[in-house]
Amino acid sequence: MRLHWKLILTYTFVVVLVVASVHLYLDRAMRAFLVGQLGDTLTREVRLAGAYLRRDLSDRPPPETLDGLADLLGQRLGVRATVTDGTGRVLGDSEVRLEDLAGLESHADRPEIREAWSGRMGRSLRYSATLKQEMLYVAEVVPGVGDGRVVMRLAMPVRDVGQIQKRIYGAVWVVSALVLALVLALAYGGSRFVSRPIVGMTQMARAVASGDFTGQTRVPGGSVRELRDLAGALDGMRRQIQERIGQITVEKSRLEVVLDSITEGMLVTDRDGHVQMTNRAFERLFGTTGCAEGRLPVELVRSGEVQEAIERTLATGKETTQGMTLPGVPERHLDVHIAPILREDACIGSVTVFYDITELLRLERVRKDFVANVSHELRTPLTAIKGCAETLVERALADREVAERFVQTILSQSDRLQHLLDDLLDLSRLESGKLELASEVCPIRRVVETGVGSVVQRAEEKEIAIHLDVPEEVEVRCDPKLIEQTLINLLDNAVKYTPNGGSVRVVVRPFAGTDSGSERSIPYTSPEAGERPVLDGEGAEARIVLEVTDTGIGISSDALPRVFERFYRVDKGRSRAMGGTGLGLSIVRHIVEAHGERVYARSELGKGSTFGFTLPVVV
Ligand code: ADP
Repeated sequence: MRLHWKLILTYTFVVVLVVASVHLYLDRAMRAFLVGQLGDTLTREVRLAGAYLRRDLSDRPPPETLDGLADLLGQRLGVRATVTDGTGRVLGDSEVRLEDLAGLESHADRPEIREAWSGRMGRSLRYSATLKQEMLYVAEVVPGVGDGRVVMRLAMPVRDVGQIQKRIYGAVWVVSALVLALVLALAYGGSRFVSRPIVGMTQMARAVASGDFTGQTRVPGGSVRELRDLAGALDGMRRQIQERIGQITVEKSRLEVVLDSITEGMLVTDRDGHVQMTNRAFERLFGTTGCAEGRLPVELVRSGEVQEAIERTLATGKETTQGMTLPGVPERHLDVHIAPILREDACIGSVTVFYDITELLRLERVRKDFVANVSHELRTPLTAIKGCAETLVERALADREVAERFVQTILSQSDRLQHLLDDLLDLSRLESGKLELASEVCPIRRVVETGVGSVVQRAEEKEIAIHLDVPEEVEVRCDPKLIEQTLINLLDNAVKYTPNGGSVRVVVRPFAGTDSGSERSIPYTSPEAGERPVLDGEGAEARIVLEVTDTGIGISSDALPRVFERFYRVDKGRSRAMGGTGLGLSIVRHIVEAHGERVYARSELGKGSTFGFTLPVVV
């Protein structure tokens, strides 16, 4: 029910109650008062009439005289006058004719008469059987008349009292109605006065509840102090809530930024094990997109073990660690760490962190492989050197010719060792990531010529012709020393794996973006990462391609994708025999990638190979 209706009903009820009570009270009090007044008047008149009777009449007045007197008094005073003797017989009555008096019953039992006889002023209010209406009787003994028990009684109908009351009531009703109307108007106005600010406050509270803080800047409180105080308190509360929500929003977004910037996947659950939030790394890791909230971890992670581990943590409040493998290519290995969120010793949720240890495991494996490979590579020349040295010590020193051969072998194996160690050092420098690349502008022709210069002797020995198709004017931005080394490694391989009489061609041409597109071309495929870099046309004008093509033995399509791996050699024996370490192309790949460029290889078994890489051109 609305406030003003409630107030109006309450006020109406109160007014009606008051009016009814007043009416009830007035009815009795006024009647008593009026009857009392009437009685007093009658008393005075009875005394007067008594004095009058005593003065005018002898001891035994004749009945007709008494009746005549009663008639006279009744007429003059406008009342009913009755005179009775000491036995209660009526001697005169203003309302009864003389001849009828004898027929009247004795008045000895009338209360006012009995009271008068007992020496007091008798008074009685009752219904008169004679006059058929309610009458007030007042009676007193008239001393000195008759036997001293003659009673003078005056009576008046109380009908007049009722009429006076009726008139007064009429006024009371009118006033009551006016008061009621006034009260209702006041109640309505007052309730509007009170309810308007309350409505305002309610609207504000609703707006706040629905998250709208912008509506009103102040809550109306009206002129009632208490309401103003309440409005002030509400306003303060609204501002505080706004501030708090602002703070919480900032903290939440800060937390989200922090969580999203964490590279480990994270998943937060509530105490029932339902997901509350995940970070971006998690979405990337498990390929989920939003709407994770409220779901079970197993629906996102698809691992019953992780689900069980989370449930265990929630139940025990203890940290749990769990390993899991994510199927796919490549397979990912995760370390899952689940920690409880505790508040006052109660577990109110959990945080699960997914550490992707695939790369760690790979590096561990690579490190092990590397150590094994290096040991193996070092052992071979060392064994040869040791064998030669031992043979020399034991017996060959005497035979100069044999001794020379052994010493030659020791020398060549030492060269090999040195070569291997140089390559290893280069590689470790490149792989450490600490390499500082110089960024110089230099003519590509000069770089190519320097590179060719260092293999030309070996090429001549094998009668291999080296052709250059390199424009004079093209300038590239690179680290010239490292690019020279790259070129030397490629040319060295080209010469090594091309039979006598073959040819090698160095070509520099604009990068067309199709170098990985031809049928026989095999772009470098990183065996570790499993990714296949795409040489697209992006920035084609700003790049050149430097290719070394030979007419050598070529590489089978199975082996081609692996030639850039460390220590990978298609034919171990042949490579070793030629002083190869299996690290040359690995170094090439690292240098080119350090420049942010791409390297690739094309080859056909028995026909020849082409190795190329891109470089940015300075226009
Ligand atoms: P290596 O020191 O053995 O030459 P690389 O890393 O330079 O090591 O080359 C790896 C392997 O790739 C070589 O062992 C060889 O089998 C093959 N290879 C490299 N270049 C050529 C080429 N131009 N022609 C044929 N095979 C090649």
